Amino acid sequence: MTDNSMTLTDKARRFVFDNTDIRGEAITLNSSLQSALEAHAYPESVSVLLGEMATCALLLSTTLKFEGTMTLQARSEGPVSLLVVECTHNRTFRALARFDDTAALSGDMHELMPKGQLVVTVDPEKGKRYQGIIPMEHETLAGCFETYFQQSEQLPTRLWLSSNGKQAGGLLLQALPPHEEKDDAKREESWNRVTMLANTITAAEQQTLEVEDQLTRLFHEEDVRLFDEETINFNCSCSRERTGNALFNLERAEVDQILEEEGDIHMDCHFCSRRYTFTQDDVEKLFASHGSNTGQTLH
Ligand SMILES: [Zn+2]
Repeated sequence: MTDNSMTLTDKARRFVFDNTDIRGEAITLNSSLQSALEAHAYPESVSVLLGEMATCALLLSTTLKFEGTMTLQARSEGPVSLLVVECTHNRTFRALARFDDTAALSGDMHELMPKGQLVVTVDPEKGKRYQGIIPMEHETLAGCFETYFQQSEQLPTRLWLSSNGKQAGGLLLQALPPHEEKDDAKREESWNRVTMLANTITAAEQQTLEVEDQLTRLFHEEDVRLFDEETINFNCSCSRERTGNALFNLERAEVDQILEEEGDIHMDCHFCSRRYTFTQDDVEKLFASHGSNTGQTLH
């Protein structure tokens, strides 16, 4: 196989198998993943995990209908304590990891994040935030979610995720409630057939082949209907205004102490490492404007 990793497109494509109730989505990440990770010097094993997490989060975000952001977090007491991927309905994402850099960071998710927990949070632009917690009881991220789907939605779902830390690919298949095909035996036969075909996907194919080529390779004898492609981009939603708001949440005395000791206040975005600097003057303005906005009175 030739290595197409230089030109691999960052995109997702949804598809359905005609005359069945099976939907799917395939995605590939290349430059967007590298952009998301470039501000950090992550060890390879951590980049690999984050690549898988990003692919997983982006696939999940299409199974949950929302306008806003969806965050997938993995926490553990192991060498990798935290992985976060935040994605939006506009198909952008950002990611970060926290880990013990004195530990031996080799191995897969099971070894790096033992007894971990996955938290999925959906923050819709309108409506209430909701959260789901999934124990990391499987060796793979895909396995954890397959169990979750089975238990929570009763929709059989299979996931294939792969990442080398620079490129990543994901495939999701989901059996929807009966609509096109109501005969149980036929439904099961279709599901078994397409999941068996999908099982033949290799990590190398997921990381180097465009999604259309992957789907042709897997399902050339099936009637697959592809929907429009969606481009995936890295985008960090941090801003000077949001950072200022975070600063405003600190005690004024604490802020003054930092100003006295450091001269200016530097706040780095944990996701993209962009640095926001606030001078004494900026701080005065910030607190003055917030004070008036929230109607606070001075004693
Ligand atoms: Zn940022």
